[in-house]
Amino acid sequence: MSLPRQLYKLQQIDIELQREQQALSKIENQLNDSRALAAAESKLALQKQELGVAKKEQKSTEWELENLQEKANHVNNKLYSGTTKNPKELVNLENEARSLKSKIGDEENELLELMSQGEELEAKVKISTGELQLLKQEWQQRQEKLNREKAEIEAKLVELSGSRQALTQQINSDVLGLYEQIKLTRGQAVAKVEQGRCQGCHITLPTSQWQRVKADELVQCSSCNRILYLV
Ligand SMILES: [Zn+2]
Repeated sequence: MSLPRQLYKLQQIDIELQREQQALSKIENQLNDSRALAAAESKLALQKQELGVAKKEQKSTEWELENLQEKANHVNNKLYSGTTKNPKELVNLENEARSLKSKIGDEENELLELMSQGEELEAKVKISTGELQLLKQEWQQRQEKLNREKAEIEAKLVELSGSRQALTQQINSDVLGLYEQIKLTRGQAVAKVEQGRCQGCHITLPTSQWQRVKADELVQCSSCNRILYLV
């Protein structure tokens, strides 16, 4: 294999290595990205918290209602048992009974409101729990798929690195240094020559250069500095 051909082959390996490394880092980013899952989890946590607050409020309204009803029973017993004869006291008891009845009505309305709120929140929590479960399943499957892809890419990288090493062992270290240096400034160090033109910069090569390329010599394009390779 001529030196320009070896270098061209090295470049192909490097291009593939770079592509696989980019694919690998993309997969690694996706593997680390659990933002959607975290968002669904915090949404559910918030809804559960709201539900807890609503239940507590409901409980305390129930207690309050029970308390008022006991008081009302007590007043009504006094009122209708016939034990109280004093007219002023009876009027007071009647007023108290009326006031308690009105408070009980208010508390009952509030309780109904709170119960319906609680039901709505429970329904929301149920939906979000289902959504989160589904999301977790999908995430898990995706993780497995990504991990498989990652393993494939890593195997390919090992293979490519092996090929690269085998190839570079056959190339003189000065030439390799030149290759790396041009690669650093030009992105790709080797340019194909087609119809007498450098495909890196599209300049037509001088005849003398063109002939040296044809003779498989190591020639750099006088315009873009790339190593020329005749296909
Ligand atoms: Zn060129």
